[in-house]
Amino acid sequence: MEIDYPLVLTGFGLRNMKKVQIKTVKGFNEVLPPESFRWRQVEDKFRNLLEGYGFAELRLALLEPTELFARSIGGETDIVEKEMYTFIDRSERSLTLRPEGTASVVRAYNQYSLGKSNEINKLYYIGPMFRYERPQKGRYRQFHQLGAEVFGEESFYQDAETLVMLAQLFHTLSIKGVELHLNSLGCEACRPLFRDQLKDYLSRHQAGLCDDCRRRGAENPLRALDCKNPQCREAVAEAPSIGDALCCDCRQHFAGLCALLADAGIAFQINPRLVRGLDYYTRTTFEFLAGDLGAQNAVAAGGRYDRLVEELGGQPTPAFGFAVGFERLMMLVGSEVAPLTLPVAALLPLSEEALRRLFPLHVELNRRAQMTTLSFQHKSLKSQLKKADKDGVRYALIVGPDELAQDEALCRNMRTKEQTKLPFAEIGEFLWERYHEH
Ligand code: ATP
Ligand code: MG
Repeated sequence: MEIDYPLVLTGFGLRNMKKVQIKTVKGFNEVLPPESFRWRQVEDKFRNLLEGYGFAELRLALLEPTELFARSIGGETDIVEKEMYTFIDRSERSLTLRPEGTASVVRAYNQYSLGKSNEINKLYYIGPMFRYERPQKGRYRQFHQLGAEVFGEESFYQDAETLVMLAQLFHTLSIKGVELHLNSLGCEACRPLFRDQLKDYLSRHQAGLCDDCRRRGAENPLRALDCKNPQCREAVAEAPSIGDALCCDCRQHFAGLCALLADAGIAFQINPRLVRGLDYYTRTTFEFLAGDLGAQNAVAAGGRYDRLVEELGGQPTPAFGFAVGFERLMMLVGSEVAPLTLPVAALLPLSEEALRRLFPLHVELNRRAQMTTLSFQHKSLKSQLKKADKDGVRYALIVGPDELAQDEALCRNMRTKEQTKLPFAEIGEFLWERYHEH
């Protein structure tokens, strides 16, 4: 295989290149300050909640062998058929930027034998995912997920615990109006029968289906049930319902979960069309939908996948997991998260000597918390005060030649404009107290 390295990658090319502004790849979502601070606050709440429930963090590779996704998510799914960033590397291996987290967590669970050390394993991850989709509101090509997986527990109590925990996450973030939609996709015993019934139905309604659903009909008929195409929606309106096809065990599992959720006061709707776009689900599948998000209204989704660990080469291990779309979650959070903390004071040196004297104080004070700003440029008092005002600090500590000689600063209350003298030795304590007033 030949790879052409364009000239711009060499030093010669770079030096001779015209001045151009390089931008991100289309649809790759980046998070800038102050939004990144809000993300961190939400991320911390997610971590605290999950760690409270005994989850531990996994930090996983972003790039995986393509086969991992083809085998887990399924060949006839939107993700694998048309959304993956796949390329051949220099050793001619096919690699893919991860489009989701579950496959990688299961790969890691098997690769590091995580199930051996603990009977029940609870793992979470936070990070970017990549899908080649049409960028629009709430849909990006690089987006971020907060996700978690539980291995080793088949009881519906596990499904309920995880769903209650997710509902608590929304509650903690003061997000209202999120609806839980729930379904069961059955197991190896009952799903094949349902698939055959559905296949039969679809073959009789071919004319009404979109090209994708018609083509996938034989291999992956369940996909037609959640195809977004209005034409397909109409065509499957009368299709058989999975709820009627569940075996006794699956029926009990689902009923058990529904009863626990009702007891916990969590409202939900059973949606027999909710099959999810990935092949690995068994039994419970769910989505949390938020009306406020518009067309891309799923803020979190997941379910049970009791066969996947084994299908990817591990021991038979039941599992349950979910992923929250971080961008969509942030759209719902609004301004509810705590406001950013501001520095307490601006240190305003009026000479090089004063700057020299204030610098050690500045670095010492900021070791504990963001306490001070310090201008490294010689600017007039007027412009430094203007900047301090803009930065929203509560005090300005002005140090000119007179103050230097007296080992003190002129402390100006930015709100009342009142000015008092403050010895250098007392600055630390003075600011530390003011810092805690907020
Ligand atoms: P959708 O129906 O919105 O396409 P999906 O079924 O493809 O979602 P999952 O693979 O289950 O989504 O991913 C879980 C969550 O990640 C979704 O509920 C959504 O909040 C978020 N998500 C998925 N794809 C994107 C994307 N391209 N951009 C932003 N967020 C996304
Ligand atoms: Mg999708």
